[in-house]
Amino acid sequence: MKKVSVLLAMNTPKAYDYSISDSLDVKLGDFVKVPFRNREIMGIIWDKSLEGIEESKLKEVIEYYPTYKLSNNVINFIKFFSRYNYTFLGRVLKLFIPHSYLIEKNKTLLKYKVNNENTNKITRVCPTGCGGELSLKVSRFGAFVGCTNYPDTKTKARKSVLSLFEVGNKILSSSEIIEKANVSYSVIKKLIEENILIEASAKDLENLTKLITKKLDLNKDQYSAAESIIKSINGNTFERFLIDGVTGSGKTEVYFEAIEKALEENKQSLILLPEISLTETLFDRIRRRFGLEPSMWHSDLSKKKRREIWQNVYNGNSKLIIGARSSLFLPFKNLGLIIIDEEHDHSYKQQEGVIYHARDMAISLASFEKIPVVMVSATPSLETVLNIQEGKYKKLLLPERIGNAVLPVIDFIDMRDEEYVKNQWLSEKLKLEIEETLSRGEQSLIFLNRRGYAPITLCKSCGHRLECPKCDSYLVEHKFNPKLICHQCGFTIKPISSCPECESENSLIAYGPGIERITDEVLIAFPSARIATLSSDNSKDSHKILKDMKKGSIDILIGTQIISKGHHFPLLTCVGVIDADLGMANGDLRAAERTYQLLHQVSGRTGREKRPGKAFLQTYFPTHPVIKSLVEGKKEKFQEAELKTRENNNLPPYGRLASIILSDTNSFKLIEFCNKLKKSIPNSDEVIVLGPVPAPMTKVRGRTRYRFLLKSGKETNIQKYLDFWMNNLKKPSSIRLTVDIDPYYFL
Ligand code: ADP
Ligand code: ZN
Ligand code: ZN
Repeated sequence: MKKVSVLLAMNTPKAYDYSISDSLDVKLGDFVKVPFRNREIMGIIWDKSLEGIEESKLKEVIEYYPTYKLSNNVINFIKFFSRYNYTFLGRVLKLFIPHSYLIEKNKTLLKYKVNNENTNKITRVCPTGCGGELSLKVSRFGAFVGCTNYPDTKTKARKSVLSLFEVGNKILSSSEIIEKANVSYSVIKKLIEENILIEASAKDLENLTKLITKKLDLNKDQYSAAESIIKSINGNTFERFLIDGVTGSGKTEVYFEAIEKALEENKQSLILLPEISLTETLFDRIRRRFGLEPSMWHSDLSKKKRREIWQNVYNGNSKLIIGARSSLFLPFKNLGLIIIDEEHDHSYKQQEGVIYHARDMAISLASFEKIPVVMVSATPSLETVLNIQEGKYKKLLLPERIGNAVLPVIDFIDMRDEEYVKNQWLSEKLKLEIEETLSRGEQSLIFLNRRGYAPITLCKSCGHRLECPKCDSYLVEHKFNPKLICHQCGFTIKPISSCPECESENSLIAYGPGIERITDEVLIAFPSARIATLSSDNSKDSHKILKDMKKGSIDILIGTQIISKGHHFPLLTCVGVIDADLGMANGDLRAAERTYQLLHQVSGRTGREKRPGKAFLQTYFPTHPVIKSLVEGKKEKFQEAELKTRENNNLPPYGRLASIILSDTNSFKLIEFCNKLKKSIPNSDEVIVLGPVPAPMTKVRGRTRYRFLLKSGKETNIQKYLDFWMNNLKKPSSIRLTVDIDPYYFL
């Protein structure tokens, strides 16, 4: 036996020693399973441990997996990740190996295809006794079995199975068919028995992964942007790009070009997206462009699918992966390109569990892998803008919309001039515009970034507001699915009719609008229009609603930020923002930037094809720099002004911040510990520590929260400073301490 160090995929800062058979040639990064306190834990062979246990007392490695290992690049990335985000090594490894089932043997699933040879061959006599014969027909609705006399005798279930195969020469496993066509296995079995579906051969599968490219002729700007990236893929170099262009300027087509190059070189490409809801649209587009199915990685996958994708990424069969944040931790065989679409999006910042910024970590991963990384945005983050100014990133500009599409005209509606009508939030001007849009047979989109019916419910007798018992937050009334919900912790109660404080009957009134209340208003104002509402509350319907919107069977779509991103609705020509000032009052350092990005993005949904679009921002502050620069279309002016403000205050992207958030159910204990922490703040010329102060959201899920804020210059090693401070600290175990490097959330 010999001694090896193992880093465990669990909440631990260091590696542990184990013993393993001498005969095994174990190497850094190899997967193992080891015993740890009555449990079996996955881990990898590590280079060193700090233990020093006697050899005779070592526990033995349970299982060694010679086929699985993490590369040296990834191991270096894990070390960097742990250090930068100030989190334990083992927790980072756990992101890479979240479940041990990922490496379990995958049953090779039989895959099926439509038997084309069978087309029009008589299989049997029609069971209705009509004298006709059943045969397989292929029409634009897909392949189906029909009677020669009555072409409509195919069943709905069969039709939906066979229509799956309609696009290209698709090959699907039975579980995929069941999932996608929503049918039972018996339908598939029947089709197999009838020889309509047949097993796909290895050759078929190979043909499937062959590239079919249907590319557009790129315009001059697109072409030169694509060329720059392609050069970098060829050169195996770490280079950072930003594709900067208004919505509809053809950014996606540019990065497709780069992906095509990577595919030709047999390298894998990863496309990061801020939200799962965007993956579907991109999936279809990729299928049409490349004729292959990308792997989609997100939190909603079944265990089987998850394992299948993980292994396909590992063995290199999966060449193109679309995913949310966690796809950064897939075991790529030979990653050649990373795309970060909508790089400015704040959903890239992971706020729970291990806190990290997926954009920033994707860039680090690219640097360890020595590959290009391409950020994409119409409203780049100020971090990225500064990096371009400093020459670290290369900007690839697409200045114009594709074809004849012109940029939408953005205008404000000064709400101070509008007559105040109780419980009405749509201005007369906006209603008029929507009316006109309807009469032209075009679509409108109404945006309000607030879920539910009303944000506050208050008692008109005593003034009491309904609050969450566990958080510092109001209960939000929802009417589509009647409930009162805390948006902070999810606490939910049934609707109530009397005030819990003064017990008055029917005294509770809704205060302020959410999108459900706006929907009521729109329904009354436009009774004959086809109206739909979309937010994360009904995200399960999002696919259908977005599809209906795309094909023009919705006239007015009302929604939260879920509708602001990525979608391309050809008939949409009018956008109305109910409360353009909403995000500005947040008081966090990025409030203006975020509002600018959001409103720009929402406005950019309109006029994407031949018809010109208009966007209207309802505001009480038309002179606010955010509103002004949107209306004037001066993105650079806004960026410059905002950068100046940040520079003057030494805030990111010029300065650097870190937060420490402490929480406990016992607030006395918490405050006592915070004061102790304050006394041990290390002296430094480079770092200023503010706090402790109660967090703005002081109570969440029954825990009181306090914060420290660290401010420093950009070059300061703030992690090292934290080491000085946090080492040798005796923290009561009930207190939770979280470090957030480069925080985006200040509540
Ligand atoms: P963005 O990503 O900047 O929003 P897209 O790449 O999605 O822009 O392009 C917008 C629309 O224009 C899409 O429908 C796309 O297919 C089309 N398009 C992009 N580039 C071209 C081109 N060179 N020729 C014709 N159509 C194009
Ligand atoms: Zn009351
Ligand atoms: Zn709550």
